[in-house]
Amino acid sequence: MKAKTIKELIAGEDELAEATVRGWVRNRRGSKNVAFIALNDGSTLESLQIVVDFSILSEESMKGINVGASLVAKGALKFSQGGKQRFELMATEIQLLGSADPEKYPLQPKKHSLEFLREIAHLRFRTNTFSAINRIRHNLIFAIHQYFNNQGFYNIHTPIITASDAEGAGEMFRVTTLSDIKPPLTEEGKVNYREDFFGRPTNLTVSGQLEAELAALALGKVYTFGPTFRAENSNTTRHLAEFWMIEPEVAFYDLNDNMDLAEDMLKHVIQYILDNCREDLEFLSNRQQEEEKTKKAEEKSMELIEKLLFVANNDFERVTYTQAIDILKNSNPNKKKKFEYIIEEWGADLQSEHERYLVEKHFKKPVILTDYPKGIKAFYMRVNDDDKTVRAMDILFPGIGEIVGGSQREERYEVLLSKMKDMNIPEEEMYWYLDTRRFGTVPHSGFGLGFERLMLFITGMGNIRDVIPFPRFPKSAEF
Ligand code: ATP
Ligand code: MN
Repeated sequence: MKAKTIKELIAGEDELAEATVRGWVRNRRGSKNVAFIALNDGSTLESLQIVVDFSILSEESMKGINVGASLVAKGALKFSQGGKQRFELMATEIQLLGSADPEKYPLQPKKHSLEFLREIAHLRFRTNTFSAINRIRHNLIFAIHQYFNNQGFYNIHTPIITASDAEGAGEMFRVTTLSDIKPPLTEEGKVNYREDFFGRPTNLTVSGQLEAELAALALGKVYTFGPTFRAENSNTTRHLAEFWMIEPEVAFYDLNDNMDLAEDMLKHVIQYILDNCREDLEFLSNRQQEEEKTKKAEEKSMELIEKLLFVANNDFERVTYTQAIDILKNSNPNKKKKFEYIIEEWGADLQSEHERYLVEKHFKKPVILTDYPKGIKAFYMRVNDDDKTVRAMDILFPGIGEIVGGSQREERYEVLLSKMKDMNIPEEEMYWYLDTRRFGTVPHSGFGLGFERLMLFITGMGNIRDVIPFPRFPKSAEF
């Protein structure tokens, strides 16, 4: 008989005369006459209780069945007498697949710290927390693709290795095949990249936006969903060196259309997770509330599901940068000099503390900030008529800060060119980007959504290193 997953088995209505399950032992307990195994196969949060009655199976059959071991069990699926679970398996056959030495297996049925689990990222999938997170991660990826597909978008793969470093989004990782001991040198004694694999210096991409724009100006609505790399030496709970980014780019969209798209998309995918991952969310919610027991009332966050429902069902607050500066200047932490960076005047770049004040203290909901000073934003953002601000929009989320950065793009060739000159962007290298403004340019807009930032928000986890299977950050690239 074909084995079923535990998820499939417990979703059924009826008892089954015969069922086969396979998985890993999460716990084992019992008495003289009977043993109970909590078996988990990752298909769902729930473990299935396997009952081994020693009048049916010998005690010998339990040999080696310790926490962490893998096994196949056959028997009848029965309604469970006591306990929380609906079903249990009355084993008639049990076969150990792989043992796990209890002296050496690092995961025991007790609470391990997230820091410890990060050190054993190869095994942490086997905990409830990380299997829940990774199931949600899968569902979120699916929901994002489904959303864009339903809206008529085309998914574009933009390059991971790129020769352009003009985006200026962050420090880049170099890609090279040159010898690190004795690289070929130019006459001036510099590394001669003409002899490198691509005949020029190349890096890992920090964003697929510029290439997505090229596609949008032909296909209309496109999005990328790929890995991005930033060699930022910031050891924060919100930055990774390797992360995934969703970047829609749409021809004929202005900034308002762009904000509507981002807000609708975020609400839609959050609702999808509420509808499809309820059990895992409830588990993570309980986990978070356990963790927060020691916190002061004002530091406690909103219950996870309540928070997600709130965001899915309420409009985001749309505020200009100029309005935000006024709010911040007059805020208590600014007047009492509680901010690390005091807001003195218009033009200041907003730090995470300011973003969080606006979202968590002032508006108490997601905020879309627009029309930033042109000096603190990238060259490709469309200049407003005031010639001081650009059509930028950042979406700020409670507990996270910036989750989306986007803009209406500068579609006017002359304006773009003069801005590139002002900001020292090499126009010869960027001829292909400028070409779109030379040939059939149209207004267009797009944004970048950090996938792991959204994961942080949805799972309620506190550290971005815990919402990606194998985090990459300074001094860490194990596994
Ligand atoms: P931040 O100010 O938080 O560093 P950014 O301004 O560098 O963000 P963008 O260049 O606009 O961010 O990138 C788009 C989105 O990618 C951000 O809104 C964020 O969600 C995400 N993001 C940026 N840097 C990282 C990182 N190092 N790790 C994970 N996500 C990131
Ligand atoms: Mn950054």
